[in-house]
Amino acid sequence: MDDIISDAEIRRQKDFRRLRTTTPICLSCGYSKSSSALELAHIAPKRFHDDGGVLCSNCHREMSDAEKDLSYSPQSANPQMETIGRYLLALSEWLTRIAETIAAFGTWLLGFAESSPAIEPEPLS
Ligand SMILES: [Zn+2]
Repeated sequence: MDDIISDAEIRRQKDFRRLRTTTPICLSCGYSKSSSALELAHIAPKRFHDDGGVLCSNCHREMSDAEKDLSYSPQSANPQMETIGRYLLALSEWLTRIAETIAAFGTWLLGFAESSPAIEPEPLS
């Protein structure tokens, strides 16, 4: 029985816990080569809400740059309303980026389909 776990395997397990998934992929650009270059990005700053998703380091820096002009925790007399507003605005930015990625993937797939030999599709069950 070989139950020796390498240091690299331990680091991958820590990455998976940190990223909250065992199949991490950047939601913005699709990068998935190394989990060590992926981060859990909060949709809105963590003090507003804990929801998040996986982004590569580059996409995380790009997406969080605009946040630096805003507060990292509720500042108004209506923190719940402020939290919901920040969450919705941040989520709309995420969805815009994801929609752009979906369009790029679809365009790539259609171009690939036109230049590839015919593949007999498997029957759908
Ligand atoms: Zn990315």
